[in-house]
Amino acid sequence: MRYAVLGTGVVGRTIAGKLDSLGHEAVIGTRDPQATLARAEPDAYGNPPYSRWQAGHPQVRLATFAEAAAHGEVVVNTTAGVSSLQALRSAGASNLAGKLVIDIANPLDASQGMPPSLDPVNTDSLGEQIQRAFPDAKVVKTLNTMNAQIMVDPARVPGEHTVFVSGDDTEAKGAVSELLVSFGWPATAIIDLGDITTARGAEMLLPIWLRLYGALGHTDFNFHIQGGHHSA
Ligand code: NAP
Repeated sequence: MRYAVLGTGVVGRTIAGKLDSLGHEAVIGTRDPQATLARAEPDAYGNPPYSRWQAGHPQVRLATFAEAAAHGEVVVNTTAGVSSLQALRSAGASNLAGKLVIDIANPLDASQGMPPSLDPVNTDSLGEQIQRAFPDAKVVKTLNTMNAQIMVDPARVPGEHTVFVSGDDTEAKGAVSELLVSFGWPATAIIDLGDITTARGAEMLLPIWLRLYGALGHTDFNFHIQGGHHSA
């Protein structure tokens, strides 16, 4: 399958690397490929520059947001949440139309200091904003409630733990569940929360996630909904 992974941060790299290792054709999208490759400093989170990761993954191509989205049969949004709408507009509505758009981003706003706050929140969500802005896309929110490494390697956290999916299109959510299983998630770990408005709850887990990170001092943890099976 051809995937566009929009975003060059640790999430985009991790998802694209996993898709590539599973035999998919992943193209990563960025604002300006030359500028991204030319960066020599670690990013704001201390991750090595993109070019270092790219050197180890020569088969994953770097392109503009629009070129990547045109390539993808499926588009994955791993851009900074406050800029995701802008990034997706650069990708182009026509390159998203009719496609599954997997949204992993969190709308974290650090402009007022740390810890960041959510914008939108409570009565809206980034997942919904994306679905409203691109009504012809099939937006599914998932994987945003855990660290990037766990997304593609759930066994990093012992025992069963939970991944949520939210979206209006049942078939699209089915395709995402299959992808999650291919990433190593047991089908029983996946909870379909409902339509895209349920992304509000998944995004609103971020304040507690950030505080857990502060309290525990590491990121190898995840939420587990005990008894989280669907009733018959
Ligand atoms: P990030 O630093 O949050 O985002 C990097 C990406 O955002 C880059 O591709 C960058 O474009 C793009 N971007 C930044 N400002 C932009 C703008 N003004 N217009 C267009 N694009 C812009 O990277 P990350 O840490 O990998 O996180 C990605 C997303 O996943 C975030 O929404 C985050 O909240 C969410 N998330 C992260 C984790 C984690 O473990 N880090 C876990 C769960 C969810 P360029 O490539 O052009 O620089």
